[in-house]
Amino acid sequence: HRTLRLILGDQLNANHSWYRTVDDSTLYLIAELHQEAAYVAHHIQKVSAFFAAMEHFAQELKQLGHNVIHLNLDLSAQFEDLPSLINDLILQYNCECFEFQRPDEYRLYEQLHSLAGSLSQANIRCREYDTEHFLLPFNEIQEDFPPGKHVLMEHFYRRMRRRFDLLMDGDKPLGGKWNFDKSNRNKLKKHELEHIPSPLCFSNNVNDILNRIAVHQVRTIGQAQPQLLWPVTTAQAQELLHFFCQQCLPFFGCFQDAMTEKSPHSWSLYHSRLSFALNAKLLSPTDVLKQAICAYEQNSSIDLAQIEGFVRQIIGWREYIRAMYWANMPNYKKLNALKAERKLPDFFWTGHTKMACMKAAITQSLDYAYAHHIQRLMVTGNFCLLTGIAPDEVEEWYLGIYIDAIEWVEMPNTRGMALFADNGIIATKPYAASGNYINKMSDHCKHCNYDVKTKTEANSCPLNSLYWNFLHQHESWLAKNHRTRMIYRSWDNLKEQDRKRIIAKANRILKNIDNI
Ligand code: FAD
Repeated sequence: HRTLRLILGDQLNANHSWYRTVDDSTLYLIAELHQEAAYVAHHIQKVSAFFAAMEHFAQELKQLGHNVIHLNLDLSAQFEDLPSLINDLILQYNCECFEFQRPDEYRLYEQLHSLAGSLSQANIRCREYDTEHFLLPFNEIQEDFPPGKHVLMEHFYRRMRRRFDLLMDGDKPLGGKWNFDKSNRNKLKKHELEHIPSPLCFSNNVNDILNRIAVHQVRTIGQAQPQLLWPVTTAQAQELLHFFCQQCLPFFGCFQDAMTEKSPHSWSLYHSRLSFALNAKLLSPTDVLKQAICAYEQNSSIDLAQIEGFVRQIIGWREYIRAMYWANMPNYKKLNALKAERKLPDFFWTGHTKMACMKAAITQSLDYAYAHHIQRLMVTGNFCLLTGIAPDEVEEWYLGIYIDAIEWVEMPNTRGMALFADNGIIATKPYAASGNYINKMSDHCKHCNYDVKTKTEANSCPLNSLYWNFLHQHESWLAKNHRTRMIYRSWDNLKEQDRKRIIAKANRILKNIDNI
């Protein structure tokens, strides 16, 4: 073989131009690596899903006639890391070229570029390819996203809508409006709970993978699932997309921010659960958009607000977050604008807390390796923001626990959007909220040990005093921000004595944070 081509676990794009021709002189490498399984403690379903998807992808390529080496942990364990494995294979197969697709993560980008540097010195030709996955070309990121500068998602999104001619009426947005967010923020009412669709779950046998994880002592978190429900092939991912378009899209926008603990399908609601398939590149965003828009055009029960909300997530948020990551790395990883330094409470790893909203979000994350956006942002994210948990601690949790967590998408969402540690490169203001927000969007407060209506009683919702304590701590700059200035009016209207009581209550909670 003359060329060795590396396929990373999140590069399972069967439509990549690499595979258009079958070439005997090219050898493809797909490997389960200890380095990838262990750079953080991942959810066991996440490791299983990536390993299973990689195995299927290797089989698919073999069936198409490509030469593929698939190494499982047993076979790759003797190599210290990815570069040593590649060096070994190049020697073993006498390769003259090494080719790879640009990694989406900075960590791997650095590692492969440094490997390519040393291989070139040894006269091995190296070439990097695009992953052919994202809509925004990589080389345009630099122009559109100056490092350290805020770029408004909404402006980027509108440019993307125009550029790819999605939901457009000539030069105008379909329906005359770019954004239907206002009609999209409903709570689920009691009689609506029974209509929530039962989620499409697969049943992929991953027993062998679970055994390997155990034998090789890979440290994992969360509930193992021998019959994995997540899609691990392109066909399954397509099936899930179809299910989403038929069953969930009609109410996607409407209940995008809603939470409930009163349905057997509370964990999935109307969300697509496509993030793993998208991030592993089993599905392309273009296919997802095409199918969703086609469903909207054919199905009168999907109105414009629903499809617009979905298109915004895919060509807006997802592409924007990736661009922000690349525009701001490696500096972004170190940002801690609010100087947050607290340790993450232990209940993040067990779900043992008396706060109903936190218990639900954490428990379902441990059970399914999944929580939807509002749980990540406004429940666990908001809690970490208000209590000043160190961004590194928070990121370790988010990067490990979610099925879809890869640093390029996890980091800007966690450090930027949820924690405001980037001082507003992503969000225009901190997403800080009291218990009132949770009560408005969910039924958690009804079943909670704490009282959402009070601030300083023994059983008051901790979020209430923590919220005001946060605003008080950061008043010097938040009171100047035109988006947060207004909030201080009600704080200033309180009696000095009441303000003091709230701060004292917050401090008591913070002292006893492991036991709330
Ligand atoms: P849906 O609600 O059905 O949305 C459809 C798709 O839109 C998603 O699959 C996703 O690809 C895209 N999308 C929506 N919002 C975002 C966003 N803010 N950033 C990027 N893509 C988005 N997403 C990840 O893929 N990986 C992560 O590690 C991750 N970490 C997050 C951490 C925090 C603190 C927050 C607030 C959000 C995070 N997100 C992450 C974004 C978002 O929460 C998930 O993409 C979404 O919940 C996945 O579920 P879904 O596929 O059912 O999404």
